[in-house]
This record gives sequence, C-alpha cells and structure tokens, in this order.
Amino acid sequence: MLDTRPLLMVSDFPEIHRKTLDTLQINLGYKCNLSCTHCHVAAGPNRKELMSKEVVDEILQYMQLKSVGIIDLTGGAPEMNPHFKYLVREARKLGAKVIDRCNLTILLEEGYEDMAEFLAEHQVEIVASLPCYAEQNVDKQRGKGVYHESIEALKKLNILGYGKEGSGLTLNLVYNPGGPFLPPPQEALENDYKRELFQQHGIVFNQLFALTNMPISRFGSFLMSKGQFNEYMGVLKDSYSEHNLDALMCKSLISIDWEGYVYDCDFNQMLHIPLIASDKPKVRLHELFDLDLNGKPIAVADHCYGCTAGQGSSCGGALD
Ligand code: SF4
Ligand code: SF4
Repeated sequence: MLDTRPLLMVSDFPEIHRKTLDTLQINLGYKCNLSCTHCHVAAGPNRKELMSKEVVDEILQYMQLKSVGIIDLTGGAPEMNPHFKYLVREARKLGAKVIDRCNLTILLEEGYEDMAEFLAEHQVEIVASLPCYAEQNVDKQRGKGVYHESIEALKKLNILGYGKEGSGLTLNLVYNPGGPFLPPPQEALENDYKRELFQQHGIVFNQLFALTNMPISRFGSFLMSKGQFNEYMGVLKDSYSEHNLDALMCKSLISIDWEGYVYDCDFNQMLHIPLIASDKPKVRLHELFDLDLNGKPIAVADHCYGCTAGQGSSCGGALD
C-alpha cells in the first residue's frame, strides 16, 4: 500500500483545540468475518489483533474517572472480540450510551445468532455501513453476497424494533462515495435510501450519514496509484467550510487502538499520528488518567480537510 503520510504532514490546516471529552472511540481489533477490498485496517477472519481484557478494564476505569458518556466501538467486527459483551454490559451499567459500528453480516454468522437480541436488550445504537441501496454497488465494494446478507440483517434488526419510531433502538446507516468525489447532500440521499429500502424490502432506519472519503489508507493509496491524489486534495481544500470547525469530532473524543494507545481521532490512528496533548511519542490510556485534555491542541494534517469539506464529515456525517 502506498503511504500518503509524507504528502499530508506539511499542512496549512488551522490550529484546533479540544473541548470537553464525551466519547471514546474504541478499536476492539482487526478480526472480521469479511475482507472488504477498501478496508482501512485490512481486517479479516485470520487477523489475531484483539483488545485484551486488561485494556477493556482500563477503559471502564477511565470512563468512570472522566465521566465519559459515550463509547463508539469499531474494528474489524467489534462483536468478534471475546470481551465485547462484557464491555457493553459494564458500560451500560455506568449509564453510557454504546454505539456499535456493525457490518450487519456478522449478525447472521454462526456463533453470533444471539448478537442482534443482545444489542437490542442493551439498547446499543447501531451504525452500519451500506455503501449503496443497489446490490451491484455493495457487492463490488464488500464482496459477493454481502448485499443480501446485509438486507437480511436489517430485516432482523427491524423485527427487534431497530429503526422504528418510539422503540428507543437507533439504527443509522453510513454512505461513502465510491470514488474521488464528495458525497451528495445528505438529506436528499437519505430520502432516496429510505424510499428504495422501504419499497424494495420494507426496511426502515433512522438516519443516513454521508461521509467524505479520507485521502489515507487504502483510498489514499488508490488515489496515488491513479495519479489523482493532488486533484482530490484540491477538491477537499476548495470545499473547506470554516463553519464545520466548531463541531469536529476530535474536539470531544479520543480514539483508542486495540493495544490501548490513544490518538486524537480514528484517522490519526490509521496514520500513526500520536495524541499531541501528551508529550510522549506514543501514549497509553492509563497514562492519561491524571491529564485534563480540555483546551489541549489536536494533531492536524492535510487529511483534516476531509472533515471540513462541504457539509463536513466527522463520524456523525453532516455537522449541524
Ligand atoms: S466489514 Fe469493515 S472492518 Fe470488516 S473488512 Fe469490511 S471494511 Fe474492514
Ligand atoms: S482528521 Fe478530522 S477528526 Fe481527525 S484530527 Fe483531523 S479534523 Fe479532527
């Protein structure tokens, strides 16, 4: 994979600083039941990297100490970590909201048949990537048969109440463009998804997040190999909107990798750009127990323009 980091590090992106920490974005490891071609972490069934119980306990301790109200679980398929259910149960006992970045198909895998019920029982919010409402486009990005399995899993979630008004069970979907262009306006795309998924399959969901592709990892490498890197950076910079700076996700979260190291956000984690709030080249979560992050600077580089382009694209999609 071609490395975009050297092209991104000299940057004129404005200085930004942290506000109150409310979210931990936690990567539980790289094991996954799928092996998507575009996967940022090259996850797959044979990956062995999984967060240990010790690190999970460190996280629970940190949540209590800093009154963290939200945890956002990613992977791999986060549900494949053997401590997933333990973390969810304990975090819910602390009163935290839990978000599961679910690839949907895991809910149908052998050994995970009870996972959808478990998520519903603990009122876990589901954020699921569905790159398109058309079968051909999904299977191209994620593998043959993934569209059908995703539809089956969405139906299973709907039966449990997910995506239905008044159920308290939130089901949000995520769209990424299939190439070097910005996503279309989120509201119009959400209406298309809602219409098509309901008409074709009777599926309902709450919100669609339309995210901008970041010029890093596999997508960055793809841009470099096609000679489109500078052009795409130009698109992101031309679409810069200062108004998006205020709601950047990195102002209120930290990202923790499967070994317990901390970064300003998931994208910085992928680029190995350490948290600059601490002076260490690599910092573990337990080393932050005594540090107040509020007001501390955030490590930025040119990929940050992906978060401020157009409607803005943090983990929550268009920023309010
Ligand atoms: S489902 Fe997600 S984590 Fe798993 S291989 Fe695909 S992109 Fe990677
Ligand atoms: S990539 Fe986005 S979320 Fe991460 S530090 Fe830059 S602006 Fe913040």
